[in-house]
Amino acid sequence: MTRVLVTGGAGYIGSHCCKAFAEAGYEVVVFDNLYRGWRDLVRWGRLIEGDIRDRAALDAAMAEVKPDLVAHFAALTYVAESVADPARYYENNTFGAFNLLEAMRAHGVSRFIFSSTAATFGAPQTTPMDETHPQWPINPYGWSKLMVERMLADYAKAYGLRFASLRYFNAAGADAGGEIGERHEPETHLVPLALEGALRDDYRFTIFGDDFATRDGTCVRDYVHVTDLGSAHALAARHLLEGGEGGFFNLGSGEGATVKEVADAIETVTGRRLPRHIGPRREGDPAALVASSAKAQSVLGWRPTHSGIAEIVESAYAWRLKEGTRET
Ligand code: UDP
Repeated sequence: MTRVLVTGGAGYIGSHCCKAFAEAGYEVVVFDNLYRGWRDLVRWGRLIEGDIRDRAALDAAMAEVKPDLVAHFAALTYVAESVADPARYYENNTFGAFNLLEAMRAHGVSRFIFSSTAATFGAPQTTPMDETHPQWPINPYGWSKLMVERMLADYAKAYGLRFASLRYFNAAGADAGGEIGERHEPETHLVPLALEGALRDDYRFTIFGDDFATRDGTCVRDYVHVTDLGSAHALAARHLLEGGEGGFFNLGSGEGATVKEVADAIETVTGRRLPRHIGPRREGDPAALVASSAKAQSVLGWRPTHSGIAEIVESAYAWRLKEGTRET
């Protein structure tokens, strides 16, 4: 049976991808330090508690699991935190990935899926953005991930690493089966926060700027259902295991939604009013970010079939009802 070692498999996107790997017939083993991950989100395979900064722990996991492929999600992901404390981001995201790649090399593991991000592009120069768009991140988070992308290209050339680097735009939504969903502490993302605004009187939802040059003045983002991200990872794994050429892939729905459109969808789905306070722009927020995923569609055969904003919000709402009140 094909074995996949999933770092960060106790996190939001990692746990959904574990489900997709298991459904594709792979044996899943999670490697996670549970710093911002959750033991109860590990449902498709056992958990090895460990930290990617700890080379000895990685070596032990490689020796024990003997994975055919490593899928790497373990990372810090808050842009503002990366600006305030870049060292932590370079240590976890860049050095941690280096450690992992070195442990793989030492144990002869040559297939790798990397959880990358639209933040590696920086300010958008064209919309939609395909893989040829220039990459010049505007925060340490984006740089910490782009440096890994650089390593992947160099390791592929020098050591025969076979990789797929998947750059997510705005991951959102929750597993349709209701088994897992988005759980961040603190929560900073639009869909869960706007849901709080609709469901609770004591949470004030704020739109970060309504004077952008977009159709309604609020930011346009490309929301992609986390279940669609799961299927992209399963397809990328199959592609690498069958000897296909890897590379970099942008993952989005190809459709942009404004903050107001997401807020409208939340009102429709919940049947509740969502009071909208208009606040200042958030630093570093571009007006519009939309992916072209033509490459993932043609090379991997990927189709984002769940990424309509209504389906995203419905699944996030179902998960929110299951989770109960969240800290904001
Ligand atoms: N946003 C907002 N209010 C919030 C949270 C987010 O207006 O409480 C906006 C944010 O400015 C951006 C979009 O929603 O335009 C998506 O933000 P999120 O933090 O979910 O993802 P990001 O685009 O930063 O990766």
